[in-house]
Amino acid sequence: MDWISAKPTKYADVPYEEKLRLFMEVKNDPRYEDFLYGCYECGICVSACPSARFYDYSPRVIAQTMAREDVDRFYEIMVEDIWNCAQCFSCVRCPRQNNPGGLVTLIREVAVKNGLKEARDVLQGYSRVIYKVMLKGNQVSPDMLQPDFFPDWGPWVREFSENMHVWRKAIPVDTLRGVTDAAWRTDEKTLVELYTIWFETDNVDIVREVDEGLYELLLDVMEEALEEWQEEVA
Ligand code: SF4
Ligand code: SF4
Repeated sequence: MDWISAKPTKYADVPYEEKLRLFMEVKNDPRYEDFLYGCYECGICVSACPSARFYDYSPRVIAQTMAREDVDRFYEIMVEDIWNCAQCFSCVRCPRQNNPGGLVTLIREVAVKNGLKEARDVLQGYSRVIYKVMLKGNQVSPDMLQPDFFPDWGPWVREFSENMHVWRKAIPVDTLRGVTDAAWRTDEKTLVELYTIWFETDNVDIVREVDEGLYELLLDVMEEALEEWQEEVA
């Protein structure tokens, strides 16, 4: 037994070899080397990270764990930590040019592709969000642009938020979704392009790993829309 596998771990029931296999799947992703260059442990990413304010979560831990190639700790962050990341990428201000949010993206993808129970459990709660993003092409609504969030998006967020009532009047009604003004509507051609991307990149199949019912629902709507579009342009 080597010194790493001899260390106490929270997930001792999962074989070290399986954790290593998942770790290597992340590390072998072609994007990995652009997301991690070592870590100064300066904490700048933590101070920029909105999730670190609200959860027991730290982008520094993500970067350090990966840099140290601590496979047991990697498995812990795959099961627990990464689901707290908001994917806002405020952490890219890292002086080492790390991208902790990008690392989280890679780890999440591997967790989902491998059908980890924890990934399924976490994403169950987001079925409606996945449904909306994949079918409607958007999720962020104007109401979500609050002045004190997303500081890295620049001063326009505050200005936009403070003048929301003016923007609402300026936006043509037919660009708003349904009878509410809580979200944007994506045009048909863009939706067809999105559906094609979901299929071509196997993202639809990934959804099957986490929610079979949602997968069937998405498949029905997307296939019908793509068929109708093909008939229209034929
Ligand atoms: S991308 Fe994730 S880790 Fe980076 S700042 Fe945003 S919430 Fe934090
Ligand atoms: S900002 Fe970069 S170097 Fe500093 S702790 Fe975060 S990941 Fe490490």
